[in-house]
Amino acid sequence: MLRVTEIFRSIQGESTHAGRPCTFVRLTGCPMRCTWCDSEYTFSGGDHFTIDQIMQKVRDFGCSLVEVTGGEPLAQREALDLIGRLCHQNYEVLIETGGYVSTAGVDDRAKIILDVKCPASGEAERNHWPNLERLRADRDEVKFVIVDETDWDYARKVIAEYDLENRAKAILVSPAWGLIDLQQLANWITESGLNVRMQLQLHKYIWGPDVHGV
Ligand code: SF4
Repeated sequence: MLRVTEIFRSIQGESTHAGRPCTFVRLTGCPMRCTWCDSEYTFSGGDHFTIDQIMQKVRDFGCSLVEVTGGEPLAQREALDLIGRLCHQNYEVLIETGGYVSTAGVDDRAKIILDVKCPASGEAERNHWPNLERLRADRDEVKFVIVDETDWDYARKVIAEYDLENRAKAILVSPAWGLIDLQQLANWITESGLNVRMQLQLHKYIWGPDVHGV
């Protein structure tokens, strides 16, 4: 059984897949407590579903793209079985993970979108660095949420240290919602010369920042 907060169909709001119709399976629970977390409603509650029940709901929504997210989806080890089942059924599977739990054991066919937590999150000490070494340049993406210049400097350091421009399909730089001037972040990015992608959370512009399950 997996503890599930919500399963819904929407537009993918982030990553290089932004704008595509996508079914989201949002699992309950997260061991982290990022200061700017926008998913605190996933920390508790949820309902228990068997993998068969989840598969049925995913089938009903009819999207070829499925994201398994949270909370922290990999914190429930049965999530690995769900991911394997989805891949086996030929869904294109994205895993949005906070970077604390190891990605080892995730089905090879799934595409990982891996957060690296920056200092302002309060959780940078918990980044599991071997996850960066497992990134595959043809499919996996890495994401930094930026609050301030200290975060941006930290991101640049990690990008250089782990050679992420060659190791990942995309480096996503995301402003923390409402906490940073977008033009300032855009200027830092353009001045850096780095091959990164600034991303805005499309779903928040469509439905508003506090609405979920749409
Ligand atoms: S890892 Fe994600 S869900 Fe967990 S506290 Fe941080 S932002 Fe929230």
